[in-house]
Amino acid sequence: MTNDRGVVWLDTPAFPEAARTALADTQLRANLKRATSTIRDKRLTVAAELDDWEQLRESAAAIKQHTARHLDRYLVQLEEAVTAAGGTVHWAADAAEANRIVTELVQATGESEVVKVKSMATQEIGLNEHLAEHGITAYETDLAELIVQLGDDRPSHILVPAIHKNRTEIRDLFRAEMGHWGQPAPEDLTDEPRELAEAARRHLRQKFLTAKVAVSGANFACADTGTVLVVESEGNGRMCLTLPETLITVMGIEKVLPTWSDLEVFLQLLPRSSTGERMNPYTSAWTGVTEGDGPSAFHLVLLDNGRTDTLADPVGRQTLGCIRCSACLNVCPVFERTGGHAYGSVYPGPIGAVLTPQLVGVEQAASLPFASTLCGACYDACPVKINIPEVLAHLRAKVVEAKDGHTVEGLAMKAAGKVLDSPRLLGAAQKAAALGGRALARDGKIGRLPGPLHGWTDTRDTPAPPAESFRTWWRKNREGGSS
Ligand code: SF4
Repeated sequence: MTNDRGVVWLDTPAFPEAARTALADTQLRANLKRATSTIRDKRLTVAAELDDWEQLRESAAAIKQHTARHLDRYLVQLEEAVTAAGGTVHWAADAAEANRIVTELVQATGESEVVKVKSMATQEIGLNEHLAEHGITAYETDLAELIVQLGDDRPSHILVPAIHKNRTEIRDLFRAEMGHWGQPAPEDLTDEPRELAEAARRHLRQKFLTAKVAVSGANFACADTGTVLVVESEGNGRMCLTLPETLITVMGIEKVLPTWSDLEVFLQLLPRSSTGERMNPYTSAWTGVTEGDGPSAFHLVLLDNGRTDTLADPVGRQTLGCIRCSACLNVCPVFERTGGHAYGSVYPGPIGAVLTPQLVGVEQAASLPFASTLCGACYDACPVKINIPEVLAHLRAKVVEAKDGHTVEGLAMKAAGKVLDSPRLLGAAQKAAALGGRALARDGKIGRLPGPLHGWTDTRDTPAPPAESFRTWWRKNREGGSS
C-alpha cells in the first residue's frame, strides 16, 4: 500500500495500535533487545577509540548543512560529472516517475530479472512490486533483505531489516521458501550462522552469474567527480555492482556530497555508528562506465519524492542530513520495544518518526511524531548531529495545527488558555481542582482520572493538588491577608 506521494506502507495501522500488537509479541521483543543492545555496545566502544569523534560529528553536520543550502548547485554538478564519465542521469519527482523510469530501463535491456543491492530508496517507492506488475522479478541479494523477501515480510530496521527474526526462524524460512525463488536450502540445514550464510551464498551465486541488470541504492555521491558509493558488509553488493551489464542506481537527492574528500569524514562515522565496525568490509565506488571493467551502461535516478518540500522547512530540513546509520534506532527505548513494523514506513525508529511525516505530509502520518519519549538518546547517538527531539516537537505542533485544534488536546488547550488569561477564573479553577483532587485522591495520589483524562492516569500516578494554591499561600503569609 502507498500514500498519495508513493511512500509505501504508511500508517497502516497507526503507530499506537501497531505498537500495542508488537508489545504483545514477547519473541519479537527478545529478538530486538538482544540485537540492539549488542550493536549499541559495539558502537560505544569503537566511537570512544577516536579522539576526534566529536569534531568528526561537527564536520559531518557542517558538510550536510552546507550541501542542503546549495543542493541545486551540487545536483547539477553531479549530473554533469556523471554524464561526462559516460553515465546517464534521470530526474524523478516522485515514486511513480522513478518506478516508471527504472521499469522502462530494464525493459529496454530485454531482461525480466534483476539483482538488487540493499536500497532504502527503492523500498520507499515500492520498486519491487512495480517491477513485478510488469513481469520483472527483482532478487534481493543482501542477506537480511533476502530473508525479508523470502518471508514476504517487511524490513523492520534500516541496517538489519530482519532484526525481528532469530536464527531458528530464519532456518525454517530458508527450508520452506528458498526453493521457490531458486536454489533450495539443504534438507539438513541447521540454525548455525555459518550454515545459514552458506545456504544464502549458494542460492545467490546462480543469480549473480546470470543477471544482466542490477539495481542499487547509494550511500553517497560526489558532485565533483560524479562518483557513486555503496558500503556493505557481505560482498553481495560488490557482485551486483560489477558483474551485470547494466547498473541502475536509485538515489535520494540528499545523498550528494560536494567533494570526494568529504568521504573522509563520513566513511569514519558511518561504519562505527551503524555496525560498530572500524571500517565496513566492502566500499564500492564507481564513476560512470569504464570499458572492459564492470557494467557497460550506468543510469543514475535522482529521486525527490518529498525531499525538496522537507528542505523548505528550516527546522525539518536537518533530517535530510541522515546517513541511514541506524544508531538512533538502536538507542531508542520505543524502537527497542515495538520494533520497526509499528512505524508503518520503510524508515522506522526516531529517524522514521521525523522523516516519514515530512516526506508524505504530517496529516498522513500524524501519529509518528508522537512515537517517542523525547529522551534525547537519538540526538546523542546521531553521527551527523540531527536534533531529532527538536524536529519531533516541531512536527507535533504541525500535527495539532493540521487538525485545527479540533482534538481533545486542542480543545483542552484552548480552554486552559482562557483560564490562564484571567486571574479570577484561574483562582476559581484552582479551588475546584483542589476540592475535586482531594475527593479522588488516595494516600496523596490520584489513581484514575475520569473521562478522557484517564489517558494520563492509566500509566502514571498523579499527585493530589495541594490544599491551597501558591497565590493563596502568598496572600496569607506574605501580604498578611486571607484568601
Ligand atoms: S538520524 Fe542520525 S542516527 Fe539516525 S539513522 Fe540518520 S544519521 Fe543515523
